[in-house]
Amino acid sequence: MFDKHGICDWCGRLAKVAQHKYIDGLSHQSCESCYDLAKIDVKQFNIGELEARARLERKS
Ligand SMILES: [Zn+2]
Repeated sequence: MFDKHGICDWCGRLAKVAQHKYIDGLSHQSCESCYDLAKIDVKQFNIGELEARARLERKS
């Protein structure tokens, strides 16, 4: 974690960043000060995605 430099997808600053993986295969990166926020964002996205998939499965 935080082992490479890149642009933080949350604050847009150049910093040491960590990867966050989304359930749909995408990934974003955040700096250390955005990390906790990013973790919550990604988690909520993944929960929403799982719920959407469950709804689709129930329909078919
Ligand atoms: Zn940031």
